[in-house]
Formats: sequence, C-alpha cells, structure tokens
Amino acid sequence: MTIDTDRVRQTLVQLFETPSYARAEAGVAAVVSARLAELGLAVESDDCHLRIGGDCGNLLSRVPGTADGPTLLFNSHLDTVEPTDGLRLTIEEDAIRTDGTTVLGGDDKAGVAAILCGVEAVLRAGLPHPPLELLFTVQEEIGLFGAKAVDPAWLAAKVGFVLDHGVPVGQMVVSAPSQTTHEIVFRGRAAHAGVEPEKGINAIACAADAIGRLHQGRIDHETTCNVGVISGGRATNIVPEECRLKAEVRSRDQAKLEAQVAHLRECCEAAAEAFGCELRFGREEAYRAFRIDPDEPVGRLAAAGVRAAGLEPAWADGGGGSDANVFCAAGPRCVVMACGEREVHTHREYVLVSDVVAAARVVAGIITAAAM
Ligand SMILES: [Zn+2]
Repeated sequence: MTIDTDRVRQTLVQLFETPSYARAEAGVAAVVSARLAELGLAVESDDCHLRIGGDCGNLLSRVPGTADGPTLLFNSHLDTVEPTDGLRLTIEEDAIRTDGTTVLGGDDKAGVAAILCGVEAVLRAGLPHPPLELLFTVQEEIGLFGAKAVDPAWLAAKVGFVLDHGVPVGQMVVSAPSQTTHEIVFRGRAAHAGVEPEKGINAIACAADAIGRLHQGRIDHETTCNVGVISGGRATNIVPEECRLKAEVRSRDQAKLEAQVAHLRECCEAAAEAFGCELRFGREEAYRAFRIDPDEPVGRLAAAGVRAAGLEPAWADGGGGSDANVFCAAGPRCVVMACGEREVHTHREYVLVSDVVAAARVVAGIITAAAM
C-alpha cells in the first residue's frame, strides 16, 4: 500500500497549526470533518460537551463496508497538552518540530494523521474493506473524559486500534495499568503555637506520620504508589488545622491495586487515630487496567496490519492510561498502536513524517487484512 508522503506532511502541518487544547477542540474537529467530507464520509458528534463541558463532542465517522469482515474501530484523540500558543513549525526534510518554545501536539495529531491518511489511501485505491468506525475523542489529556463519555451502544465495533503511542512504528501496547487518585484530608485543631500548643492537633505531623507508615514507590513489577502533593498550614505560630495529600496508585493487576489502596487507607487511618485527627479519604478511578492476548482476534489483526506494512510486530506493556483503557472496560477490545510521537509533552517534541507514513500504512494494512 503506497502512502503519499507529501499528503501526510500536509495533513500533519494543518493539524499542528490548528490549536486544540482539551475542551477547545472545535477548530481541529472542523479540520478532521472537512477531510472526511472530501472522502464522501458523514461525521456525527455525540455532543458530549453539553454534559462534560468544552466546545465540541466526540466525532464518529462510519465507513460502510465493501467486503465482509469485522467492523474495525480506529481512534485518536483531538486534544493536545499545552502550550501551543504561538506555535512556529520548523519543517525539515523528514522532521517536523517547533522552535522550542512550545510543544508540537504530535500526541495525538500523529495518530489523527495516520488514521486520516491510511483510510484515505484504502478508499482512493478502491480496496475492499470491512465497515470502519473512525472515532476522534476529546479531552483525553485531562482525564480520558471524552472516551469515558462515549455511549458503548454508539459503536458497533468489537475490535479497535488506538493510535496513541510513540515509536517504533509496529510496536503494539497490549496492557496498561489501572490507576486511582486519592485526595486525603487530615483535620486536626488550630491553636497558638507559642502560647498553648497543647490545645492543638497538628495535621501536618499527622500526615507525616501516615506517610512514614506507607510503602510507596515501586511496590512490585506492576504496582506503584506515589504521594505527589502535600499542602497545609498557614503560619509558623499556628498549629496547623488541616493538611491535604494527593496520591496515586497504579497496577496492571486489579487485586494488587486494591491491596495497595487498602494499605494507603490503613496508614492514614492509623495516623489519624494516633493523633486524634479527622480523616477524609477520597478515591477516584482514573482508568482501569487492560490486557490483550496477542492471540485474540484484535491482537492478530494488529500484527497482520504491521506485517502488511512491511514492519516487524513487537508487543509492549504500557505504563500509562489512554482511551484504550476506557474502551477495553466496556466496549471494543483495543490495542494501542505506535504512530510516531516523539518526546511528547516537551518542547523538544518532534515527529518524522516517515514514521507517520509507516503508521498510515499500518492502518491501511489492518483494514485490508480484515477484509474477507
Ligand atoms: Zn495521547
């Protein structure tokens, strides 16, 4: 399958030049919709922004099949991290980067470009293909909110490919951890620190005691825990009444995650008890773990697509969350595919057009491999 390099470069540049912070994706959504319209494809939106905020919802384009085969989902997210204000591109022979004062937004515009260009190549070549669902989500970077807002009944696909991973193209992420985040508040009693400290209950000391009891860092090869934020107190002459911690737990094994969360809570409860503090222990589920077996249908299709693109399939375990965590929990089984993002979330970020061309070839490869 030939992918036109100039077309990919032009697509990337247009996407990069259209800002798309989370909750402000309407501009880039219009660019994507226009590209799909050029292919005669309709685009629908779930208007999830009316519930979760922002200026546009998730976009879905259904491509009717011309051959038998499973409906395939392809997904990338439309939003990028900040900053891209004043973005100035440096376009070299293969690399596209910024002037170093902003991020590029290759996460996840490299994925968006790979899907657009890969599908376009298949359709323009008139190759037989199964039904496709092209889903472009909003608000991934700030908590997978767009993907979480997707009604599973909106999608017919049982297998999916999330293009949102770095290099080398051909690498497939088949597992990712669960993550919980915890806001923990210790409430003691304020008192004058010089005059009558014995009337106070020092919430900072209580939080410190809890942290001292806690096993954190790497718990085992697939479980981690981190207290990342601590705040509290007003002045040196006041026994601090309140101290807040923010912590997270991750594991690729749900039972281990629950055990570590229980340990975290026990440490906080023991310290609160010892100091006579009141404790508020919050828990939010950031995302759920998933694991794909390379031998299940979506794994085999992903590998077939990589091979069809002339690349060597490689499986990898992921350490972070993506929209795939959300889809795997309730919707289609998804593999996360490399699409050429490099040094993401930094000002050194860049993409090689040749990587995105290869990722588009993988998309086209999956589609043609699935056609029966
Ligand atoms: Zn991403």
